[in-house]
Amino acid sequence: MASLDRRVVVTGGAGFLGSHLCERLVKRGDDVLCVDNFFTGSKRNIQHLAREPGFELVRHDVTFPLYVEVDQIFNLACPASPVHYQFDPVQTTKTSVHGAINMLGLAKRVKARILQASTSEVYGDPEVHPQVESYWGRVNPIGRRSCYDEGKRCAETLFFDYQRQHALEVKVVRIFNTYGPRMHPNDGRVVSNFVVQALRGEDVTIYGDGSQTRSFCYVDDLIEGMLRMMDSEKDFHGPVNLGNPGEYTMLELAEKVLRVVGSTSRIVHAPLPLDDPRQRRPDIGLAKAKLGWQPTVSLDDGLKATVAYFRALLSG
Ligand code: NAD
Ligand code: UDP
Ligand code: UDP
Repeated sequence: MASLDRRVVVTGGAGFLGSHLCERLVKRGDDVLCVDNFFTGSKRNIQHLAREPGFELVRHDVTFPLYVEVDQIFNLACPASPVHYQFDPVQTTKTSVHGAINMLGLAKRVKARILQASTSEVYGDPEVHPQVESYWGRVNPIGRRSCYDEGKRCAETLFFDYQRQHALEVKVVRIFNTYGPRMHPNDGRVVSNFVVQALRGEDVTIYGDGSQTRSFCYVDDLIEGMLRMMDSEKDFHGPVNLGNPGEYTMLELAEKVLRVVGSTSRIVHAPLPLDDPRQRRPDIGLAKAKLGWQPTVSLDDGLKATVAYFRALLSG
């Protein structure tokens, strides 16, 4: 029998990040249970794992209870792109909040370690730059992004209350914008939008004047950080920022994508969505100190790999 001794649940495992995480876990010999309702994820993302003895897939919505026997839980279930999380905002909050309660209840019953995929959105439109974990954020509680931002903030609250109240081994990572192969081509996030538009020779749509900034982390770096956090010392709960501290305006990103693709697409401007954060960059001092982690893939190299993925996808 294979040495499948660590049983790991990945909720949202058929999504962009979840599928990369499942792949890494299966590769290292874990027994992986991928739980997904396929709202934004797809079977295609995990098809290559289907024949692995250490991989199992369940169609399940985390807003409903889940009874399984496991050792670790990575809770990633939640649409991440503004277009998708605003499609059914009530369901988005339910997924974050009820989903967290169910996964924490599961962790409590089976005494599993549990990691929450939180987000830089908990900082909202920040007045502290770069963002440090001790900053409480500036979030609109009643806007279009609130279903996601407040849902994720409440999930963090639940994680820390289960830790204090029930001595659970919780781990919270705040993920900054991450990109790479297996992003959904229509998911509306900026890297996939720009790359797909550039490859198709369509106009590249910058929202607003393009002076807003983001920091982009390549998916392999991010997954490495998540794994290190899950295996970190028992009493370290986070929250810890995971992201790439390189900061770019959307105009700079568009120009980079056009260069990497070799595209002649025009850059056009479209209205800026409400509550769109002006600037975002992680302070990763804590991740460096506690996890010995920092990103290693440059934006140019990460974009090359991402463009290659979308080029194959669009021509297939
Ligand atoms: P994604 O949309 O590709 O993946 C989310 C997955 O969760 C999908 O497979 C979807 O079908 C599944 N899901 C949604 N609602 C569910 C439910 N109720 N029950 C079961 N499954 C459900 O997004 P992603 O980029 O892979 O993000 C994964 C996680 O990381 C999310 O929690 C997101 O908030 C967080 N995150 C991602 C980023 C990023 O830049 N990619 C940044 C910050 C935080
Ligand atoms: N839960 C679950 N799987 C389990 C154990 C619990 O999905 O293996 C859910 C259960 O539906 C409950 C939630 O987790 O609503 C919270 O569980 P907890 O034990 O913390 O609270 P209680 O059951 O007392 O409400
Ligand atoms: N954006 C853009 N054009 C697009 C998609 C997004 O200019 O086609 C901008 C968006 O307004 C935001 C930034 O890119 O300022 C990042 O957007 P994304 O939806 O990827 O992530 P988030 O806003 O959640 O960081």
